[in-house]
Amino acid sequence: MKVLVTGGAGYIGGTAVSMLLDAGYSVNVLDDCSTGHADSVDPRATFFNESLLNASAVHNAVAGVDAVLHFSAKSLVGESVSKPDIYWETNVSGTRILLDAMHSASIKKIVFSSTAATYGEPKEIPITEESITNPTNPYGASKLAVDYMITAQAHAYGLAAISLRYFNVAGALKTSRGWQTERHNPETHLIPNVLRATPENPLKVFGEDWPTADGTCIRDYVHVVDLIRAHISALDVATPSTHEIINLGSGGGYSVKEVIASAEKSLGRSVPYLSAPRRAGDPAVLIADISKASRLLSWKPELDLDAMVSDAWKSFSE
Ligand code: UDP
Repeated sequence: MKVLVTGGAGYIGGTAVSMLLDAGYSVNVLDDCSTGHADSVDPRATFFNESLLNASAVHNAVAGVDAVLHFSAKSLVGESVSKPDIYWETNVSGTRILLDAMHSASIKKIVFSSTAATYGEPKEIPITEESITNPTNPYGASKLAVDYMITAQAHAYGLAAISLRYFNVAGALKTSRGWQTERHNPETHLIPNVLRATPENPLKVFGEDWPTADGTCIRDYVHVVDLIRAHISALDVATPSTHEIINLGSGGGYSVKEVIASAEKSLGRSVPYLSAPRRAGDPAVLIADISKASRLLSWKPELDLDAMVSDAWKSFSE
């Protein structure tokens, strides 16, 4: 089976490329390296170093594939508030171009990277796929718009589609070429920031006055390797004319201070941090209900927070 991975030069897409190749798939990659890195694309893949907005490049990249894993997107919440136009263009218009190219080439299967940001401030914890979607920023809104586009495409043209709504993705994949890991610039995510904190540049803990046991925010972390295993299952179970939306997390949560404690075990030293004001748009607690993933994908996460933090640390330090 041959798949196109959009965003295959990025952290999550790049991990998918390597795991798909190891599982025996043929892989095309489409990525303009605007945030990804050409040198992280597995050389066994056929690489189209082109933009999702370039319809003829997308047409070439989908030729001969059986399915698409669509990771390519702008994904910074803060940037989406200050530059929303980029989010509508890349995430929404880019996906429109991809869906058109797939339709023209009769490619009938897609697995899409959606996000917990589509739910916004949750009314209930854990968050199920039936929870209200009310995104609080253009990033989440753009991903929700794409979910609607994909539903319509499934109903109109028989597309087999699954959107996977990620909670907090962390960890790294060790490959024969080295670690496939996060290389964001700027880095905004907690785990890399915890691991890179120094006395001169301590971690900023965004709020210690949240209504949680230790006063810091709770998030649901899932290892990138577990996450990609779910994508490979999704390729198997996607059904024509059906668009399933499935949460991917661990089903449990850790506070910022628990993440710091896990990092201190990996590092064998304390993590320097200081208390900073709450970050705009952060909800106190986000935890996924993952029973649908277990039911439809026969999936459960196998790697815990310590494994995510320790793999991330090895990937940055080895
Ligand atoms: N966070 C923090 N300091 C940082 C980065 C993140 O305190 O330098 C907190 C953030 O407020 C949130 C949690 O860590 O409660 C996870 O944030 P991240 O940006 O990793 O993911 P998000 O939940 O925003 O998708």
